[in-house]
Amino acid sequence: MKLGLDVESKYYNSVKSMLKILIPQIDLFNLNELLTEEVDLVIITELELSQGITVKANLIKEGRLKSRKVIEDEEILKKIYTKKDFERRIKQRVKLSIFKVLSKYFGSSLSPWGILIGVRPTKLGHYLLKRRGFSYQEVEKKFKDIYGVAQEKRALLLQVMKTERKYLLPPQETEKRVSIYLGIPFCPSRCNYCSFASYPIQEHRDCFNDFLVALNYELEAVGQQVEELGLTVDTIYIGGGTPTVLSAEQLEKLLNKLTEKFVTPKLREFTVEAGRVDTINQTKLKLLKRFATTRISINPQTMNQTTLDRIGRQHTVKRVKDIFNLARQLGFDNINMDLIVGLPGEKIADLAETLQQIKRLSPDNLTVHTMAIKRASQLNRNLEQAQLPSNKEVEQMLALTKDAAAQLGLNPYYMYRQKNTLANLENVGFAERGKESIYNILMMEERQTIIGLGGGAVTKLVAPGDWSLQRLFNPKSPFQYIEEIEERTTEKIAKLTTLIR
Ligand code: SF4
Repeated sequence: MKLGLDVESKYYNSVKSMLKILIPQIDLFNLNELLTEEVDLVIITELELSQGITVKANLIKEGRLKSRKVIEDEEILKKIYTKKDFERRIKQRVKLSIFKVLSKYFGSSLSPWGILIGVRPTKLGHYLLKRRGFSYQEVEKKFKDIYGVAQEKRALLLQVMKTERKYLLPPQETEKRVSIYLGIPFCPSRCNYCSFASYPIQEHRDCFNDFLVALNYELEAVGQQVEELGLTVDTIYIGGGTPTVLSAEQLEKLLNKLTEKFVTPKLREFTVEAGRVDTINQTKLKLLKRFATTRISINPQTMNQTTLDRIGRQHTVKRVKDIFNLARQLGFDNINMDLIVGLPGEKIADLAETLQQIKRLSPDNLTVHTMAIKRASQLNRNLEQAQLPSNKEVEQMLALTKDAAAQLGLNPYYMYRQKNTLANLENVGFAERGKESIYNILMMEERQTIIGLGGGAVTKLVAPGDWSLQRLFNPKSPFQYIEEIEERTTEKIAKLTTLIR
């Protein structure tokens, strides 16, 4: 569908980014520019700023006005708002009026998230709550009135924010606290939907040892600086890729080094993603236990064997159950399981069966991702054959996961959104009370410095005063990581030191 937009040029790009996400198949044309194309629909916006903000969005088809949305905003005239807030609000009002007029034209809301397209809606909520001084009730009203977020999603946001608050420390207490993320960018095989830093181990054996040597160098150097700066490590998260792709011997060496450099009695959480069960065995689980891992992740994604084979996971459902039960026997009392809703070929009944099996295992955390079509994934290259469920089915599937989590006594504690997810839906982490992953919350809300080590790891340097953020990226490619390790480590240490001192 071709849509012509008549909107002030300074808002055009922002409206375009929103519509490209909400209606990916749409072709947009700027009516302020010379237009030679015929368009199917036209939206003309009118703006009046004499008393607050009034925006009209008129939707026209074949020369006739089909519908109109008028939004009036006098609330922005309150003294608490700055000139910058006013400018921002105009843009939000323009976007919401277009969102609403198009939703009306299509007969249903374009997205339950309204005009919110960012990855971290809860971060916005915390900003409104903590830095702008609004109450929870006012924050909820803003999500509704300004962003057009549906009631169900507002309830989710508020519930998550309230749980997260317990773990978000005031700025003066975060100054000298950091978390560590360590990335092992190798996997036994590449899942066809994946776009993470993940290199099939068999094809990269030749650089694997050099990668571990480089990683050891980074751990040693950064560890020394963390000690010199007197930093307390709050949480450690080993992810990837699949960290348990390391042999037991390699894993032991790595855990020894990590413990030596970063583990103190003040460590609050230590997570290892043992994501692919084809890389886990009793020896490795015992090792993780010995090194005081507090939380592990065993990720089936689905308990349907046909789907597992289709997406290239190369392990069985039976192995997921066996490894989970073994981990329980060995005393792991905080186990997460990741699921994906909307996997190729899956129907509602398939997901319902997966949830039955998950309920029988009874994990302590359940992380539910909505299928995202990543540009770099193999799936994206064969999208036509993918047999993805419809948006309606995906919505129903996500609702089922919420019910299953509730039946397991798990509550939503963190959430985020990604680009190109089916039906524009979200990813939610559920947990038993007291077993929420602190790292996940800190990483999502960007309220504490996270030092990223290893392949593809991102360091987030957070200034405690204003939560401003500086990111440093370790190369995803193991070859580049090995090549650049000294220079990247030097830069990381220098920036960390400037931030702390
Ligand atoms: S196990 Fe995870 S990181 Fe590895 S290929 Fe599959 S989705 Fe990607």
